[in-house]
Amino acid sequence: MKQSLIQLITCHWTARRVQRYLDADPSALLTPAEVARIEAHLAMCAKCTQVAAEHRALHGALSTWWGGRGADPHAEARLQGYLDGLTQGRR
Ligand SMILES: [Zn+2]
Repeated sequence: MKQSLIQLITCHWTARRVQRYLDADPSALLTPAEVARIEAHLAMCAKCTQVAAEHRALHGALSTWWGGRGADPHAEARLQGYLDGLTQGRR
């Protein structure tokens, strides 16, 4: 029970940061400790690995859609909110 609660909390923590981890946005960089924690968690959690893969696929699709100019940041933010809702069970 305690272990599953820790896993749940770590999944939630990771889900809140995975986009920043994948983007490596210089304006919102994660600390080296946060990056290490995410990478360690992704190495052992299939659910969060799937979420990361979905984020990568979405980013790739949006980049292609906008002709390689990069995604519209507002549309990307809306989609990010939608994905956050999915990962947090609100949808
Ligand atoms: Zn997880």
